[in-house]
Amino acid sequence: MGRSLKRSNEHFRRAVERLPLGVSSNYRYWGEDRTLYMKRAEGARLWDVDGNEYVDYRLGYGPAILGYAHPAVDAAACDAVAIGGCTALSTERELEVAERVAKMVPTAEMVRFATSGAEAVTAALRLARAHTGRDAYVLVEGGFHGLFDAVLWRTERREVDGRTLARVGPDARGVPAMLSQLVRQVALNDAEQLEEVFRRDGDEIAALLIEPIQGNCFGIPASREYLETARKLCDRYGAVLIVDEVKTGFRVARGGAQELLRLRGDLCTFAKAMGNGYPIAALAGRAEIMRHIGPDLPQGGTYAGHPMALAAAAKTLEILDETDALERVESYGLRLQQALSGILAARGIPHVFLGHPSMGGLFLADEAPSCAADWERSDDALYDGIAERLLELGILCEPDAWEPWFVSAAHDDVCLAETAEKFEIAVDDALAARRRERA
Ligand code: PMP
Repeated sequence: MGRSLKRSNEHFRRAVERLPLGVSSNYRYWGEDRTLYMKRAEGARLWDVDGNEYVDYRLGYGPAILGYAHPAVDAAACDAVAIGGCTALSTERELEVAERVAKMVPTAEMVRFATSGAEAVTAALRLARAHTGRDAYVLVEGGFHGLFDAVLWRTERREVDGRTLARVGPDARGVPAMLSQLVRQVALNDAEQLEEVFRRDGDEIAALLIEPIQGNCFGIPASREYLETARKLCDRYGAVLIVDEVKTGFRVARGGAQELLRLRGDLCTFAKAMGNGYPIAALAGRAEIMRHIGPDLPQGGTYAGHPMALAAAAKTLEILDETDALERVESYGLRLQQALSGILAARGIPHVFLGHPSMGGLFLADEAPSCAADWERSDDALYDGIAERLLELGILCEPDAWEPWFVSAAHDDVCLAETAEKFEIAVDDALAARRRERA
């Protein structure tokens, strides 16, 4: 049925000659005949270069919390053009936005700006090392923190004589294997394992880096007990707790996952929803640690605190802080989950929603996963079939079960009715395709 990707496909064939995989970020490459090129976005909708319209739940992996082309945010960014450009000098608005972040997030006693989430997390790790005088750090499996060497690791498991041996190895070619000496990787929600790692190596560990809701892994949440243990262990062993709120920040609550899950990090990182899509990120945390930034510990860059992005952030955060935008996002997310759940339940398909309604993962299994390794229990193949069909029908979710469904304040009842109607078709078509395969 109906969707043509003729122009996207043609463009891909030309683009791939000049741009590796035909795109500017690996995650935009969905295969040579499926990679989309966008033309325009507005509210909760996107249009591709072939003129296909989509209700968007991928939402650029989270930034457009207020919806695309938000008039007030865009007007603020345009007004900032009057400043004349990027002088790489500070502007007065940096303090205004830092004050807003500090008001919304109690941990954010001091704030520094950056351009991407990866940069903010890089700086957080450096600060943690400077603060503790240690080099090693703990990562949680299934977490994602950007495309830089320090965080591109995975746990490889092998069965030997009936025992499972685990080893941390690079998650991308080009990451120096020798850096693995610094990395300890643990499974989310396994408090005993975390305790064991700290007991063994506590005097070498500078930081625990954690996403309390794993925004790149079905939205698996850390339990309250696990977070309490993590907090206690960091205190006991003098390690810095870095809470990566690049996806959850200013989305799951005004104060992010730390407010929602009553967690107090030492440092935290933000990006995405902070600027409604303009390139801005922040590193924030306890003043005692942030004050290490100085002549011998640099943080920054030419575009850090870029006037347009900063103006967009000032307006976005004002709206998120002072209106009911986040309550509307959550309420839509809940209604969306109820609608999808009803359709799946009517067909006897086991499922659970994870994370937060504003970024909910759909896990096709009876029981919720507690960590990344549980992914094997989910019916990813069915999810892929549904997602593929949804795309054809004009509902955009990432064609990969691991990515949650992001909701914006621009999603409305019309989007909901359309999504439910098309989801029902997509599920039935995916089930029929499965029956045909098995026949
Ligand atoms: N941390 C988390 C939790 C993320 O989800 C991401 C990106 N998806 C990053 C860091 C990296 O952010 P950026 O893409 O802006 O570098």
